[in-house]
Amino acid sequence: ALRALDIDLHLHSQTNARAHEERGPLALVRGDGVHVVDESGRRYIEGMAGLWCASLGFDEARLAEVAARQMRTLATYHTFNHRTNDACVALAEAISAISPIKGGKIFFANSGSEANDTMVKLAWYYNAARGRPEKRKIISRTGAFHGSTVMGAALSGLPHMHRAFNLPDQGVVFTACPNHARHAEPGESREDYATRLAAELEALIQAEGADSIAAMIAEPVMGAGGVILPPETYFPKIQAVLARHDILLLADEVICGFGRTGNWFGSQTFGFLPDMMSMAKGLSSGAIPIAAVALSDRIYQAIADQSAEIGVFGHGFTYSGHPVSAAVATEAIRIYHEIDVVGRARRLGAYLRAALDEALAGHPLVGEIRSVGLLAGIGLTADPATGREFDPALRVGAQVERRCLAHGAIIRNMGDNIALCPPYVIEPGQIDALVERLRAALDDVA
Ligand code: PLP
Repeated sequence: ALRALDIDLHLHSQTNARAHEERGPLALVRGDGVHVVDESGRRYIEGMAGLWCASLGFDEARLAEVAARQMRTLATYHTFNHRTNDACVALAEAISAISPIKGGKIFFANSGSEANDTMVKLAWYYNAARGRPEKRKIISRTGAFHGSTVMGAALSGLPHMHRAFNLPDQGVVFTACPNHARHAEPGESREDYATRLAAELEALIQAEGADSIAAMIAEPVMGAGGVILPPETYFPKIQAVLARHDILLLADEVICGFGRTGNWFGSQTFGFLPDMMSMAKGLSSGAIPIAAVALSDRIYQAIADQSAEIGVFGHGFTYSGHPVSAAVATEAIRIYHEIDVVGRARRLGAYLRAALDEALAGHPLVGEIRSVGLLAGIGLTADPATGREFDPALRVGAQVERRCLAHGAIIRNMGDNIALCPPYVIEPGQIDALVERLRAALDDVA
């Protein structure tokens, strides 16, 4: 009944509509730790934490308890016109304590897309407040994913996010995705490749005109683009170019935030300090919708200095700083401290990496294995010796994902890349089981 109703009534996110009518949904009815259970009682190890978000698994009781307590105390309130609530202030304090951006402010939203839209609007507002409203283009990167709102999609460098939408021109210009394995010249070192990408960025800025560009947005590790890890010196080089041209650097920490890369934030792992950063997903362990933007004091002061002239800061959502969401997120961060999330991501990440190397190295479908913290990407290839790509029509990644499901594991394919982003509560034995099931799926497809 669930299946039929879903097909009848529900337009799914990021899903092929006709294929869904034929295949039907995977209907999940409960979670237990790192597992989810479908309507027929089958248990799956969730190797993706849902959509890179359920950091504490799928049934963390403490999150449920604080949500219930907050709902009984003050179930909802807004933060327009000077209103606040103790839950959102506590969350601002918890985020500020771990944020690399010191002394600025925290703005609340409900989704990663809204947080990224907010960063762009803040960059525009900042430049308007400085008397430079013409400085408004945003640089993004091919392969990037920044969300599904009009601006989030415009910022995304994935063709399906643009195809058939006829999006308005939002002044987004694209520079290269830092994928050394795919795009470096033969023999080019990671360092030389990073230097070349920084030079390409410089050339793009010259061509567009620095006076027309407000900001560049980047995920520290590109997630939906295929778990792409930049060369170690990429971000410092990029940041130096941007700083020379008075262009802000916006970090999209929606996936990387809250320990995923082995530091609280991905910018810390990849050696740069953003002017603003967006957070969502792991902020509440995915248990309730909430997102945030941390902005530097420089940006805040420019905006605040102009408030007499510009008036009200005309941005914000009914549920910005929602007390129930904020209480859940604050509790999630408390648990992250208690479990030493950064150390845990590093330890379990090393364990996962060793297991992947042991089980998959030399497999006829496996090219490069990449990982940082508790986040891994596995490049599939038609020929490990040459790295030759599969014909996309074969949909090899999708076949592997389906076979994984049959073996009781949820992973995600992005074309020829497989992503793993398990909850931090996963135990080594469960990592072994996840990797074994992935190996079995690869064997099925090979
Ligand atoms: N930014 C990144 C890096 C993401 O991976 C996502 C979602 O997957 C988003 C932004 C958009 O977040 P949301 O779906 O919460 O709007």
